[in-house]
Amino acid sequence: MPSNDIRDVYRQLVLKLEERSRLGGVMGVMHWDQEVIMPKGAADARAKQMAALAGVLHEKSINPRVGNLIDKLTASGTDEFTDAEWCNIREAKREFDLETKIPKELVQEIAELGSRGHQVWAKAREENRFEDFAPILERFISLKTKWAEHAFPDLEPYDANLDIFERGMTMERLSPIFDYLKIELVPLVRSINNSDRKPDDSFLEGDFPIDKQEALGNSISRDMGFNFDKGRMDVSVHPFCGGGHPTDVRITTRYRTNNFIESLFAVIHETGHGLYEQGRMEDSLDLPVSEPLTMAVHESQSLFWERMIAQGKSFSIRYIDKFREVFPGFLKVASADKLFKAINVCRPSFIRVEADELTYPIHIILRYEIEKAMFDGTLMVKDIPEVWNSKMEKYLGIKPSTDTLGVLQDVHWSGGAFGYFPSYTLGAMYACQFYNKMITDLKDVPGRIEQGDFACIRKWLNEKIHQQGRLYSPDQLAKKVTGKALEPGVFINYLKTKYNAIYGLN
Ligand code: ZN
Repeated sequence: MPSNDIRDVYRQLVLKLEERSRLGGVMGVMHWDQEVIMPKGAADARAKQMAALAGVLHEKSINPRVGNLIDKLTASGTDEFTDAEWCNIREAKREFDLETKIPKELVQEIAELGSRGHQVWAKAREENRFEDFAPILERFISLKTKWAEHAFPDLEPYDANLDIFERGMTMERLSPIFDYLKIELVPLVRSINNSDRKPDDSFLEGDFPIDKQEALGNSISRDMGFNFDKGRMDVSVHPFCGGGHPTDVRITTRYRTNNFIESLFAVIHETGHGLYEQGRMEDSLDLPVSEPLTMAVHESQSLFWERMIAQGKSFSIRYIDKFREVFPGFLKVASADKLFKAINVCRPSFIRVEADELTYPIHIILRYEIEKAMFDGTLMVKDIPEVWNSKMEKYLGIKPSTDTLGVLQDVHWSGGAFGYFPSYTLGAMYACQFYNKMITDLKDVPGRIEQGDFACIRKWLNEKIHQQGRLYSPDQLAKKVTGKALEPGVFINYLKTKYNAIYGLN
């Protein structure tokens, strides 16, 4: 095909992709509105509006004309296109294939089970009745297995589910990584539990007016570089980062008056996500090439700021005076070192979202092992609570007294999101590996943090990760940034060094 013609085909595809991205942005704003300011009475109407819009988006994405454009472009094999343009074509093809390969009835059944599943799960969790939720879970595994056969016929069903969140990740790759983490972390958590040295974190409780927390969160988010001309911060039941566009990034937090750390760290976490969105490549904001790479890489950006920066000692040194100023009376006796230790207390608990840095991966590994076994048929749904509880006891030394505190705690399975959980820990590992490289690229990172000089850190992340969009696979990106593909040993070394020091082990 002559060069002008193939360029024209590409331009037509770009128009379709931009339209899709814009409609997706409308959905993002509607979702934010629903979670943040929508009156309760509008819930039903809003659900229908969003379903209607989802239908429009689906119709557009299975349009055979789009398939035609993609076919022409992939068949051309031309060297006309830049890497970024090829990336847009590749991403369009992945999306189109996924949307068109699944029979319509299956898509509908999954959507319906998702909305019913959520209600059944919420009630079952409240009433501690796993048996009410079990049939939904059984049906979902069967539907998601069928879905996998259509979506990725070459992959094992669970691998196909993983691929949606972390493309390229398979059980073959992930199981040895998680086994290694488990072998290292379970004994470490046990030694911490048995250690006599327990950092005091009782002084973190107090009375913290919400308006002051809000002002503090705002100013730290600003210090990190969040652009409030292209974003907002509000309140929702569960903190999230959403919005309609990289120029309209909405982050949220929630407040408790007896503790400000939880809310502040939610702000820092969501700001990390927000910086990724705001930092996308300027000339392709409405195209797939600029989109965040995967769930795990997104999480690496929030955890980079939350764990690697804000849970480090330099951050406590930087902000302790500010905290004292905002909350007079608070931390009168505490030093930056005590504050650092208090926000890094390791304490096994039942609930994943409340877990600390060290026990969090264990919560994830437990879920991964259970999901894997559900899909390969070695674990029956009715036996999940028992397996869950015995793993909790074996790995963390605690056994939940109810399923509400155990298998029923997470929302993910009620919507059929299997294969999602590993992203959290993969993200933590990437964050650690990126940080390790950053401190060799930039001089005196701890000193810079103590000075509040976050611009160089943000710039480093922006160049190395945000601006790379979807040009590379996660492993290629890790290699490009750090010289190595994902290396779990870096994460384990970091955790051991940090927590051995805090708890005086070895
Ligand atoms: Zn996150």
